[in-house]
Amino acid sequence: MKQRILTGDRPTASLHIGHLVGSLRSRVALQREYDTFVLIADVQALTDHFEHPRKVRDNVLEVALDYLAVGLDQQSATFVVQSRIPEIAELTVFYLNLVTVSHLRQNPTVKAEIVQKGFGESVPAGFFVYPVSQAADITAFGAHLVPVGDDQLPMIEQTVEIVRRFNRLYAPVLVEPKALVGDVPRLPGLDGRPKMSKSAGNAIFLSDSADEVARKVKGMYTDPNHLTVEAPGSVEGNPVFAYLDAFDSDKQKVAELKAHYRRGGLGDVKVKRYLTEVLDATLTPIRERRRSFGRDLDEVERIVREGTRKGREVASETAASVKRAMHLDFFEARVH
Ligand code: ATP
Ligand code: MG
Repeated sequence: MKQRILTGDRPTASLHIGHLVGSLRSRVALQREYDTFVLIADVQALTDHFEHPRKVRDNVLEVALDYLAVGLDQQSATFVVQSRIPEIAELTVFYLNLVTVSHLRQNPTVKAEIVQKGFGESVPAGFFVYPVSQAADITAFGAHLVPVGDDQLPMIEQTVEIVRRFNRLYAPVLVEPKALVGDVPRLPGLDGRPKMSKSAGNAIFLSDSADEVARKVKGMYTDPNHLTVEAPGSVEGNPVFAYLDAFDSDKQKVAELKAHYRRGGLGDVKVKRYLTEVLDATLTPIRERRRSFGRDLDEVERIVREGTRKGREVASETAASVKRAMHLDFFEARVH
C-alpha cells in the first residue's frame, strides 16, 4: 500500500507563483509515489469569506484548472471538494474537545492572520478554530505527508497533537502526519511583504497573461534606497531577487546579477526586465495547459466530481473508525 498525501488550497482566488514553489511542485513530483489527495477547501475559505459564497464557489473550478495546468494528473492525484465531505465537519466537532481555547490563541499563523484581516476580538469562531478543521482534513484521508508552505507548520503541529491525544484517549486509529515544506518555504509578495497571498493583492497568478506579469513586475517593490543606477543596492529583503532565486535555474547568472546590484551600476528596470523573461519561461507552458483544459470545463467538473466521490469513500472509512473508537457506533452490525 502506498502512503498518502493530503494537501489543499482555499478557493478564495486562483493560485499564484507562491503556491507553485511552496507546495504545488512537491505535489507534482510526489503524485505517483504517494496516493495523493488534493482538497479544494471551500468550507475553510468561507471562514473568512462567508459574505462572498459566490466567489468561493466560482474559484473551485479555477483552482482545479490550476492543478491540471501545473501538471497534477487526474490518474495520480484525486481532487476533492471539501464541502461535499460532511465527515470532515463531523471529525472537526469531535476534535474540538481535544484542544483548548488558550492553545488555539497561541497559533502564530492564526494570530498573524487575525491582525492582517483586522478581526481583533470579533474574529469569527469558525476562523479561529480552522487549525482544528485542518486536522480533520488531514486525518480524514489518513495522510502521512502534507506538502505545504511554512505558514502551515503550526497547523501540522496542531494536527499531530490532536492525533496523539485521540489515539491515547480512544484507540490508535489516526495516522500521524509529517509536513513537507517546498524549495521556497515562503515566497514574498510583490509589495515586499513577507508572504505572497491571494487575499493580500500582492500576487502573480498562474493564470496572469504575459502583459499582466510584465506590468506587475514593473510595479514591484525593490530596495527603496536604490535611487540611481550607479548606487549600490540591497539584495536582502528585495523580492525581485527572491523571485530570481526561486524561478531562475541559471544560478550563476543570478549570483552575478546580485553581485553587480550590490556593487552598483545595475538598474532596477534591467533586472526586472530579466525577471519578466524568467517568469514567462515558467508560466508559458502552465498558461498553455490551463487554456487547453479550460476549453472543456465539463471535463474538469467531471474530474472533480469523480475525485470527490473517491475522497468521500476514504473519509467515510476514517469517520467510521473514529466513531467506533469513541463508542459512537450505534446501530452498526457488530462483527465480533
Ligand atoms: P489566502 O490569502 O486566501 O489564505 P494563500 O495565498 O495563503 O490564500 P492558501 O490557499 O491559504 O493560499 O494556501 C495554500 C498552500 O499554499 C499552503 O500550503 C500554503 O502554505 C502555500 N502557500 C501560500 N502562499 C505561499 C507563499 N507565498 N509561499 C509559499 N507557499 C505558500
Ligand atoms: Mg492562506
